[in-house]
Amino acid sequence: MEFQHCPRCGHDQFPPRISCTRCHVGGLEWRPASGRGTVFSFTIVHRAPTDAFKADVPYALAIIELEEGVRAMMNVRAADLSAVAIGAPVDIVFEPTEGGFPPLPQARLRD
Ligand SMILES: [Zn+2]
Repeated sequence: MEFQHCPRCGHDQFPPRISCTRCHVGGLEWRPASGRGTVFSFTIVHRAPTDAFKADVPYALAIIELEEGVRAMMNVRAADLSAVAIGAPVDIVFEPTEGGFPPLPQARLRD
């Protein structure tokens, strides 16, 4: 996973934008993330928003704060969803998808 870095003001940001959200300059750089983070906020989804998610419920949807300070929304994979908690350490993994879509980042609770 990568995030954007502004060479002018040093701001790191995600999701990607065409310019820096702090100083509005273009020409942002991409930097690799460590792949480690913590649960910033989360909810357990029990009712699928569409039929496409029926097989997935219940699942944990979270905002993950990466070590670099940027935040991204993704699912938290855990055998026991009651173990998902704010501040819990996670590792980011990329899971394959169906239908030719690119792999999606998911968080796994770190042991
Ligand atoms: Zn900037």
